[in-house]
Amino acid sequence: MVELAEVSKVYPGGVRALDGVSLTIGHGELVAIVGPSGSGKSTMLHLIGTLDRPSTGRVRIDGYDVAKLGDRQLSALRSSRIGFVFQQFHLAANVPIRDNVADGLLYAGVPLRERRRRAEAALVRVGLGHRLDHRPHELSGGERQRVAIARAVVGAPALLLADEPTGNLDSASGAGVLALLRELHAAGTTIVVITHDLEIAAQLPRRVQMRDGRIVADQRSVGVPA
Ligand code: ADP
Repeated sequence: MVELAEVSKVYPGGVRALDGVSLTIGHGELVAIVGPSGSGKSTMLHLIGTLDRPSTGRVRIDGYDVAKLGDRQLSALRSSRIGFVFQQFHLAANVPIRDNVADGLLYAGVPLRERRRRAEAALVRVGLGHRLDHRPHELSGGERQRVAIARAVVGAPALLLADEPTGNLDSASGAGVLALLRELHAAGTTIVVITHDLEIAAQLPRRVQMRDGRIVADQRSVGVPA
């Protein structure tokens, strides 16, 4: 699903955020990316999400070599195959959550009624079927993150990328979000999640540890289903 080969990323100004990273993630894996602040986790997630291109090295997503695709092809790849979840939720204020989620299908060319129908199904899936007309400010942090996850998965992406999805949540809500990610993984979605929470990382079947732009460990748990 994801193949990084000797990938480096140097930002303007000369910061080498990634330094020769090679990583393969198979279909259906659930992987945590862990490491201190500034170690290159978000940069790696952006490259996997095709939001940015590497300075050197090769990035392949679902078989496509990112360097060989133009910007339009890349955004088509992104909207059809990749879902994103961020720490800050990024929901539209004052918009009912049904429409917040339905907007996740805007670029897929799905008619409005069908977008809403699928949005409702996605919200039911994350346990918010009874809150369809609520606006984000009427929900708890954990509920908002579940809305963001529903929006990310409403287009049935093969790959879900989450950047500190529990970072703004109390531990009970964070556990709920983690349980939801595990359910999506069990249903076949490949998931990559950045977390600084070692307790959460320990519950995931594979942990890639970053430091100074490099992978310093790549561990799989025995007994935790991959
Ligand atoms: P993490 O997600 O592990 O905190 P990042 O990937 O955000 O790490 O950052 C890695 C390094 O790259 C840091 O030194 C950071 O300051 C730098 N960096 C990140 N984004 C940019 C950018 N857009 N421009 C310049 N430097 C950046």
